[in-house]
Amino acid sequence: MHRTKVKVVAEALDANNTIAAANRSDFDRAGVRVVNFMSAPGAGKTALLERVLADLAGVRVGVLEGDVQGSIDADRLAGLHVPVVQLNTSPGFGGECHLDANIVRTALPSLPLDDLDLLVIENVGNLVCPAEFRVGEDRRVMVCSVTEGEDKPLKYPLMFRTCDLVLVNKIDLLPHLEYDLDKLLYNVDQVNPGVERLLVSARTGEGIESWRAWLMGIADREGTLA
Ligand code: MG
Ligand code: ZN
Repeated sequence: MHRTKVKVVAEALDANNTIAAANRSDFDRAGVRVVNFMSAPGAGKTALLERVLADLAGVRVGVLEGDVQGSIDADRLAGLHVPVVQLNTSPGFGGECHLDANIVRTALPSLPLDDLDLLVIENVGNLVCPAEFRVGEDRRVMVCSVTEGEDKPLKYPLMFRTCDLVLVNKIDLLPHLEYDLDKLLYNVDQVNPGVERLLVSARTGEGIESWRAWLMGIADREGTLA
């Protein structure tokens, strides 16, 4: 029984990787760089996008907004006048708690890929399975907010290990919390030594310029911007 289950999971991930490669080809053909944006629920993904997407200095950005249900986050981002496509994993996809390559693929015809330089895919809030499913992205970014505890890298190592940038959000709250930032960063380095990290606050704007610059750097394929 157990062996069969392992085999099924492995095959599902193989199938996912095949579709992720097809997405990757479409992104390359259109000249789009893609960020898979992940975190636990409530860490501040949408707020961090609201802070930067309206002003990326000429970088044409689109957003794929993944949620189990509803369009609350997509509605928030629609005010920024960038193309936003809402993906709901429920009920058509069984209320999945992550985006996989196939769900992303169903949204591609709704996106003006040829007119974009950068696509941000806001994943479903979850620190577990989003880390297992590649969707064709160039980079993986995760948000870890300081209200979540310093032990998260040790509890969810795959998420931390497979990301290219850790945004430590809500740092404006540090004076009000018993939170050891050094301990968090030490734990991050335990699972992904030296991974890039930015200390940010979507609320006060601290660190937001660095986050904006990082995103623009990903989109800047030819190195011609800034
Ligand atoms: Mg959100
Ligand atoms: Zn899931």
